Formats: sequence, structure tokens, C-alpha cells
Amino acid sequence: MLTTVVGSYPVITGCPESIAEKIKASLGRFDPFEAALDLAVTDQVQAGIDVISDGQVRGSMLEIFAQTIPGMGLDGKKPVIEGKIIPSPYSIGAADLKRALKTAGKLSPAFRKEEGLFHDHTFRDGFKGVKGIITGPTTLALSSLIKDFYNKENREEIIIDLAWALKKEAEYLENAGAALIQVDEPFLSTGMADIKTARKALEIIRRNLSIPIAMHVCGDLTGIWEELLQFKVDILDCEFAGQPKNQQILENTELNGKKLGLGCIDSKTDEIESNKQIAQILEKGVEVFGEENIIADPDCGMRLRSREAAYSKLEVMVETVKWLS
Ligand SMILES: [Zn+2]
Repeated sequence: MLTTVVGSYPVITGCPESIAEKIKASLGRFDPFEAALDLAVTDQVQAGIDVISDGQVRGSMLEIFAQTIPGMGLDGKKPVIEGKIIPSPYSIGAADLKRALKTAGKLSPAFRKEEGLFHDHTFRDGFKGVKGIITGPTTLALSSLIKDFYNKENREEIIIDLAWALKKEAEYLENAGAALIQVDEPFLSTGMADIKTARKALEIIRRNLSIPIAMHVCGDLTGIWEELLQFKVDILDCEFAGQPKNQQILENTELNGKKLGLGCIDSKTDEIESNKQIAQILEKGVEVFGEENIIADPDCGMRLRSREAAYSKLEVMVETVKWLS
């Protein structure tokens, strides 16, 4: 069984230490987030995670995209839409993804393209890589204040324009070496989203991609599970530890050829789960779908956890997966 993360990791920024870094800082070119990214990657690799992220250290899942996509902006921390949304002429996350690959490759040869099972779509054991993460168009559109250009009553046009902008970002990430693209759509479980438009948007993003695509949805899924199964994605990644009622879904469903990202640790608390607690959730998934169709991961991003808790949670999850394999 493979292991992964949803994405974000506690952010511990760096200070300039070497002379070269101090010179960079004096010129305003020191990037404190590089240290945060390296730490997130190092912790994930050392905990034994197979498909890691760059830690999404540069801001929240909304800020990172709203501050870069043309037509969007930030009002404080609130995303706003103030003009026609078009694809960005440069990538939002490709440089960080490349750095994550390089940092991981130094720690473990399995993350090096020439040695790992890169771009192996079967997700066999031994597969290692860095995922490219995109905040979904529906979640971005529903989180934003519409100031100009679009009709406030009809968000479909915004969602579709965002899908084309995010499709370009998915291509940048694929070219940078992403093992897969994950689209985060937490708003699909809120009851506010138009699922049909969300599905159409996802199909735009996945068009012509040669790497697999995953969709992450957290929250209570009991009312929308059947609709989520209709999305054309390779992996459906959901929360099961912090939303125990989602576990009922596992009892009577099929995956329609998808893999299931089975959230088995609660990302809303620093409390560390026991092996037994994690095993109970994973065993349920394995029993119904088979080990080869389950990917173990936390429920959601871990940005708000302490670094110690985030690391320990990953470590105990990997340990449990090894016991079960
Ligand atoms: Zn989530």
C-alpha cells in the first residue's frame, strides 16, 4: 500500500545564515520559504512517505493561486475576482516542485527520475514522486469575492475560466516532473457547489495530461459520494478519520476503477493516533477494495499542526501501513 500526504505542512521559514544568504537578504533576494519547503520535504521523506508534496509553504491554498492568476487578487487574505480570468504566463508552483524533487532525491535515490518508478501509472509498491497540487476551480470561485467583470449570480463562467487557467498550471507542473496532479475541491462537500459544473471543470484540467489525476474532497461525503464517483479521476482522496460517518460509505460501494486515497489520520488535531486506530480504518478499505486500490494519507493538509505532531502522525501512519502490508 502506498502512502501520500494531502499537501500542506507546518511552515517554518528560514533566516539568512551563510554569508551568501546574508548578501542575498541585503539585496532583498533571500527566500525564507525555501527552508520551509526543504524541511517539509525532508520530514515527509524521512517519515517514509511515497508520494510527497512541496509542503505548500507559500500561503494558504487560496492565497497561493489568487495572488498569481490574472484576473484574481487578494483583499487582505480574502481572494477577489476583479477582471477576466486567464492562464498565467508563468507557473505558480513548478519551481517549488522542482526544488522538492531535488531535495527528496538527495535524501533518497528512489525520488530521482532515473532510479525511481517515475511516471509508473500503476502505482506499484516502490513508486515515489512529488505531486503537483492545484486548488480546484469550484473551491476558488466559491471562496472569492466578485468585484468586477463577472455576474455575481452565475459562477459557472468563472469556474470554467478558472479551469482553463488551472489546466495551464497542471501542464507546467507535469513538465516540471510531477508524478500526478491533485485537484483540491473541499467545497464539493459543502452543499454550495454545482457538481455538474465542477465535473466539467475537472475534465478541462485533465484533458491531454499524461500523468494521473487525483481529486481531494474533505468534509461529510455521505450525501455526495455517488456523484464524486462520476468524476473522471484516477484517485479519489477523502477524509475518513475525522469524519467517522464517511466510513459507512466504504461498506457498500465500488470505486469504478479508481484508487481511493483513504484519509486515516485526523489533520484537525495534534493528538497522535495509535497504530490500532489507523489500522481499523485502513483494514476496512483493504477488505472492500483490496490493498492495491488503497493509498493511505492524512485527512487533509497539516499546515495548522505543530511540526512535531505532523511528523509523528506521518511516521505512525507509515509504520501501520508496513504492519498491514
Ligand atoms: Zn481537505
